[in-house]
Amino acid sequence: SPPCEKFEYQAEVSRLMDLIVHSLYSNKEVFLRELVSNASDALDKLRFLSVTEPELLKDAVDLDIRIQTDKDNGIITITDTGIGMTRQELVDSLGTIAHSGTAKFLKALKESQEAGADSNLIGQFGVGFYSAFLVSDRVVVSTKSPKSDKQYVWEGEAGASSFTIREEADPAKLLPRGTHLTLYLKHDDKGFAHPERIQKLVKNYSQFVSFPIYTWQEKGFTKEIEVDEDPAEANKVGEEDSKAEKKKKTKKVVERYWDWELTNETQPIWLRNPKDVTTEEYNEFYKRTFDEYLDPLASSHFTTEGEVEFRSILFVPATRKEDIVNTKTKNIRLYVKRVFISDDFDGELFPRYLSFVKGVVDSNDLPLNVSREILQESRIVRIMRKRLVRKAFDMILGISLSENKEDYEKFWDNFGKFLKLGCVEDHLNHKRIAPLLRFFSSQSEEELISLDEYVENMKPEQKDIYYIAADSLTSARNAPFLERLLEKDFEVLFLVDPMDEVAIQNLKSYKEKNFVDISKEDLDLGDKNEEKEKEIKQEFAQTCDWIKKRLGDKVARVDISSRLRSSPCVLVSGKFGWSANMERLMRSQTL
Ligand code: ADP
Ligand code: MG
Repeated sequence: SPPCEKFEYQAEVSRLMDLIVHSLYSNKEVFLRELVSNASDALDKLRFLSVTEPELLKDAVDLDIRIQTDKDNGIITITDTGIGMTRQELVDSLGTIAHSGTAKFLKALKESQEAGADSNLIGQFGVGFYSAFLVSDRVVVSTKSPKSDKQYVWEGEAGASSFTIREEADPAKLLPRGTHLTLYLKHDDKGFAHPERIQKLVKNYSQFVSFPIYTWQEKGFTKEIEVDEDPAEANKVGEEDSKAEKKKKTKKVVERYWDWELTNETQPIWLRNPKDVTTEEYNEFYKRTFDEYLDPLASSHFTTEGEVEFRSILFVPATRKEDIVNTKTKNIRLYVKRVFISDDFDGELFPRYLSFVKGVVDSNDLPLNVSREILQESRIVRIMRKRLVRKAFDMILGISLSENKEDYEKFWDNFGKFLKLGCVEDHLNHKRIAPLLRFFSSQSEEELISLDEYVENMKPEQKDIYYIAADSLTSARNAPFLERLLEKDFEVLFLVDPMDEVAIQNLKSYKEKNFVDISKEDLDLGDKNEEKEKEIKQEFAQTCDWIKKRLGDKVARVDISSRLRSSPCVLVSGKFGWSANMERLMRSQTL
């Protein structure tokens, strides 16, 4: 037989396998989900490449996954007709943890341990290929890449620190293309090799795989066969049966045989009628597709027709993983006519400030070989983008109107700053963003209020929306500028997040009411007594000059103010200058 080469696992892999076995012992069946999802990924890759290289399909046209069980010997085999692996890819993929799923698993495990969380939570994450060792003593992967003439066999054992690779020597095992996995189950886990058990697991775990999954099942049909009449029975036949005597006697028997049975529903969830999909199904799809463990806060499933045709399901996550600066989130999965194209195009389909929205988008109008350049030039994409953004806003508005107040609090906590960034970056959507904003105010320091609530609470004589920016609620509350407004019972927004003021300044107005910074020098509350002000100004002109001389360049001007009640003096920003808060912001370079 050809030589068999031995390789050591990367150190992290051994550690990972240990962790998997110890944290998932009560959740062993996830191995099937992981291996099926790898098969599905491999089929996705092949389907994508075959768009430009159709000859890749020539040796096996069907793209599917087949799972066979041998319950007597405790063996499961999983075969796919996907992209397979070359020898080098085998060494890299099944010997290191450079790939996504497992890295995420390690991170989640660390986080959940720090939070003291139930380790069952980990079962929700993609833990990858090595989960095969949860139930197997020995795993054999025989795989053929279209890039290689030869088929290679990877073999590893539970608990071992090395694996081997050799060329496939058994002609009966040669594949046209793809991967054939054999799991030799541990003594106590042989029960997984029952056909009904596998069928149930596939139904449970793989409902969103878009390739057919066949399982090898025993079937039966009843048929009638002729039988010789029992002579004892024949003797008892009376006169009335004498006619029947001439007929042949038959008996029903069940004929048994084995065959492949389609076990999953292959229609992608977004192609189904939204009326027929339950919230649980959306949530499940979301969690599986995006490796999330919490249900989304909201989802939106829609189809657009006419000028541009596409289907989409969007989700608002319940937690934030990415930072605002991260544009490459892989949050939007783009399909063209059901073929998965890429999750690298979020930036083309959504503005940066909505990068937290997750979802799938399936277009019938884009070419299958779509690239970033095509997307950026495309009129179709511009229209899609517009609709997606609108749907995202509808969804967020829906959360804000929901009876469950906590949901929007959660949303705002996680994504409020994204929307504030939207005020800066997307002037065309100000109308949609503004009602979603939340602020503290002089009359609501505990609970955030919306601009609608503010406007409703305005005094009849009040024309503008007042705000003050400060670094904390305490300093906002103690600002001397506030005195006169409180006296008049005007509500003042307390902008305590550095992004608040930037957002408000970009909005400029809400419902035709201007935002007015109460710390700016020309604050007009509509109650000026010009005569009296002039008198006082004259009276104290010399005092002002004297103070200005003493302070020199430290101030631009010294003026008499009509804005104060109990404080003797106040430092204000010039009408055209930065507010104190903006200066702080620019210094800290948050933007
Ligand atoms: P992930 O799927 O997150 O990348 P896994 O540990 O599940 O991590 O798989 C590791 C890698 O092994 C995959 O990225 C892929 O390159 C390769 N692989 C696993 N199973 C298959 C398969 N059935 N066909 C082709 N490649 C596979
Ligand atoms: Mg995987």
